[in-house]
Amino acid sequence: AKTQQKGSFAFFEPALLERQVALLNLQQDLRQAVERREFRIHYQPILRLEDRSVVGVEALVRWQHPLHGLISPAEFIPLAEESGLICDIDLWVLRGAARQVRLWNAGRAAPLTLNVNLSAQHFEDRRVVGQVRAVLEEEQFSPTLLHLEITESLLMARQAHTVEMLGQLRALGLAVVIDDFGTGYSSLSYLQRFPLDGLKIDRSFIATAQWQPEVLRTIVQLGQHLKMYTVAEGLEDEAQAEHLRALNCEYGQGYFFARPLPAEDLGELLRLPEGP
Ligand code: C2E
Ligand code: CA
Ligand code: CA
Ligand code: CA
Repeated sequence: AKTQQKGSFAFFEPALLERQVALLNLQQDLRQAVERREFRIHYQPILRLEDRSVVGVEALVRWQHPLHGLISPAEFIPLAEESGLICDIDLWVLRGAARQVRLWNAGRAAPLTLNVNLSAQHFEDRRVVGQVRAVLEEEQFSPTLLHLEITESLLMARQAHTVEMLGQLRALGLAVVIDDFGTGYSSLSYLQRFPLDGLKIDRSFIATAQWQPEVLRTIVQLGQHLKMYTVAEGLEDEAQAEHLRALNCEYGQGYFFARPLPAEDLGELLRLPEGP
């Protein structure tokens, strides 16, 4: 009984209580934020490692909170998943990013591809396929330029259902890539079951490459074996970029090339046309 009392005391500790209240407020604010369109999309370029040309961008959401300023997705995506708001947010990001990339592509010989993150929650019902198709049609964005990023955890549960949904999404003409690869439990035989186009190597493997060079090599070879393209995430310096190129990893992304930036800033950096 004594320890229990101690436990409940801890709950009412002012700092903890403050944190709980803050989180609760944030969750309420999040609902309004969806209605008030308080989100911003930043874009991080993805480069071909062979010639360092920009081939596409990943759209990354931020929350421009009226009081707390710019909030990172690491803080509010978990809240958005808990409250079921994540699906609305993801589709809003898809729409906004498709509109932006279409403008950029209007003046480019080689069109940029667009990578968008899709929470596992979308896979809980079948509507997502129709929703994605509708957004692409409305924004007149070519499905062949869209790459949806999903996480490994999704592949663990309800496999048959997931395989079917991935098939339907890919039938629209878009690509599906596995994000944060290596942080889950997928084995070779496991991955083979899923219709996937690419894998993004989690940045933890890039950062530890000097101690475990074989791990990176194995992941790149795994991708090649499964006929998936590979992207190295979190490249922070020249040595890492060159190392991954030498391993035949096709694409790279990271602060070394550019941080995620607002559309205006990335457009300027890459000298992209603003469109009409
Ligand atoms: P992610 O999809 O793995 O995105 C890559 C994250 O790594 C981004 O963090 C990016 O800013 C960061 N990053 C890129 N290059 C480097 C580097 O060289 N070094 C380091 N240390 N970090 C780098 P960000 O933007 O804070 O996003 C965090 C996570 O939030 C994303 O991880 C993704 O899981 C989630 N997220 C972001 N936008 C969305 C979205 O629109 N929908 C959903 N469902 N999730 C999103
Ligand atoms: Ca991602
Ligand atoms: Ca990632
Ligand atoms: Ca992630």
